[in-house]
Amino acid sequence: MDFGIKGRNALVCAASKGLGFGCAMALAKEGVNVTITARGAEALEAAAKAIREAAPGVTVKTVAGDITTADGREQALAAAGQIDILVNNAGGPPPGDFRDWDRDVWIKALDANMITPILLTKAVVDGMAERKFGRIVNITSSSVKAPIPILGLSNGARAGLTGFIGGVARQVAKHGVTINNLLPGRFLTDRLKGTIGAQSKKSGAELEAEFQKQAATIPAGRFGTAEEFGQVCAFMCSVPAGYLTAQNILLDGGNYPGTF
Ligand code: NAP
Repeated sequence: MDFGIKGRNALVCAASKGLGFGCAMALAKEGVNVTITARGAEALEAAAKAIREAAPGVTVKTVAGDITTADGREQALAAAGQIDILVNNAGGPPPGDFRDWDRDVWIKALDANMITPILLTKAVVDGMAERKFGRIVNITSSSVKAPIPILGLSNGARAGLTGFIGGVARQVAKHGVTINNLLPGRFLTDRLKGTIGAQSKKSGAELEAEFQKQAATIPAGRFGTAEEFGQVCAFMCSVPAGYLTAQNILLDGGNYPGTF
């Protein structure tokens, strides 16, 4: 299938590793020029090198900065230029007990997982509509569909983003702009490795055994990979996906137990 997005320009936020990197790599392999961001410059440059090697024909720009700050967003938008495709992503908030979270903790989570993607969407969506093509994909979480109690900050912030997106997507749909959310279940990235590592330390279980135990609870019998996450993201950004908008696409190996 021809995705029809060769030569388009994408801004992929928080993309030196994990799911963001998977999206940038898959888009670049479809011929999309990518601007990738992350706070750590070293990993970011390594990611850019890997993308350039895998997709030699595309331009890869890097912007080292915190996407949850006004400065970080301005620099990313300026470097990317005309943005046809925006992939919103940032680190997830920490787990914990809601009784311990004060206003500042909430504001930080909202900044990262709700307000930043809203402001980036606001910055690019009218230009996309004028040019009659645009794709916005927000990396959210399966917790939007099935809340995870210890991830209350994520449940709340991402649900707010999801509500906002549902309204905007319908305002721009007639102009060739689609906005969708991609909801990861459990993907084997640094974030998940860190969580499972902490759990095995706490329980005293051997690390490999803990990985296997948790993977076995997923109907697919394994964790997802950043590569397959990125490929679904690239399809959502494609021309053939032009009628797909305002949707929450759950990618979780069958883990969500509902019929739909
Ligand atoms: P990851 O492997 O830890 O990668 C996170 C990436 O984001 C890194 O490149 C990191 O680089 C960058 N980043 C983090 N905070 C940033 C910021 N403020 N500004 C710019 N870049 C930033 O994480 P992941 O597993 O890919 O997760 C991506 C998102 O999906 C997170 O919001 C996570 O909560 C969500 N999610 C993941 C899973 C899963 O199973 N993996 C499941 C549900 C939801 P720097 O640290 O150098 O900035």
